[in-house]
Amino acid sequence: MIPVAEPFIGENELKYVTEAIKSGWVSNGKYIPMFEEKFAEFCGVKYGISCNSGSSALHLALVALGIKEGDEVIIPTFTYISTANVVKYVNATPIFVDSSRETWNINPKKIEEKITKKTKAIIPVHLYGLPCEMDKIMEIAKKHNLYVIEDAAEAHGAEYKEKKVGSFGDIGCFSFFGNKIITTGEGGMCVTNNLELREKLEILRNQGMSKKRKYWHPVVGFNYRMSNIHAAIGLAQLERINHSINLKIRNAELYSEKLKNTVELPPNIKNIKNVYWMFCVLSDKKEEIIKALKEKDIETRPLFSPIHKMPPYHLEESYPVAEELNKKGINLPSSIKLKEEEIKNICETIKKVIENES
Ligand SMILES: *Cc1c(COP(=O)(O)O)cnc(C)c1O
Repeated sequence: MIPVAEPFIGENELKYVTEAIKSGWVSNGKYIPMFEEKFAEFCGVKYGISCNSGSSALHLALVALGIKEGDEVIIPTFTYISTANVVKYVNATPIFVDSSRETWNINPKKIEEKITKKTKAIIPVHLYGLPCEMDKIMEIAKKHNLYVIEDAAEAHGAEYKEKKVGSFGDIGCFSFFGNKIITTGEGGMCVTNNLELREKLEILRNQGMSKKRKYWHPVVGFNYRMSNIHAAIGLAQLERINHSINLKIRNAELYSEKLKNTVELPPNIKNIKNVYWMFCVLSDKKEEIIKALKEKDIETRPLFSPIHKMPPYHLEESYPVAEELNKKGINLPSSIKLKEEEIKNICETIKKVIENES
């Protein structure tokens, strides 16, 4: 079977984890600050605050910025459910914006019409490894005095105008789930250049405990800490991240070359470095392609269902671009372990479907 995603775990992961376990430092330990510092450096920001998932990272960011009941937060409807759920966790309201047909990401031209007196923040999502149009988003945020929390859970190392995602907004949030660009099993990280926000995020992830006075809790926090064992895996993964990203890009180049004129390929935008977390294509023959690949034991995934269609968030309104992307979109196998032969085989199967149908 060829899976849609698969982690690559090397020798150093095992070495560092073994060291963490043998040392007895399984919860706290040296790998946590090492991983945080190196990851922040990788993103080109000052501080990294690790936590136990990408969703916790987003939740911590909202709490640290004081987003609360009665506030509105602008998010794309075309994203993973986590982006909306975290807004609910703080009792604020997610306000949806459609995608741009050119970038598939949140459409900056449609953000301003959704801003009200209650709007406090925008969460742009760099979906499937492709950065959002950050110049335009930051300009809108500045004009309306809004916070920006980047959901970079799928885009480690992606760049907009040669600057890494996660470094544009007030806080950038990453996930290290097993299918992401680097993994810790479960895990996440907030990154920021703001020392005050760093302090707040560190206190909030540790049950709100004061840094000056042990077991004194001036605010309500969470246990969202990352363990030393998870950080040990993350550090080893981070040592190889550029190689992993290059392999993702290689996959995308092979797919793009072999599938051109067959299906619609992902956006290719000047000044934007897509890290192709998952390779996506669009086709009117989506169901037929999924079926043909499945018969060959090749796994696929549909692109995300727009959140305004989900029961907890349901709206009658139409968001045509997000709906079209979901209707036509397929994630093809995107593991860095994929062999050129396998990609060729996947592309041949897709081509046959299109040729037979037309
Ligand atoms: C994976 C993901 C998250 C959440 O990360 P978890 O580690 O699974 O909690 C948030 N947003 C997006 C866009 C994601 O893909």
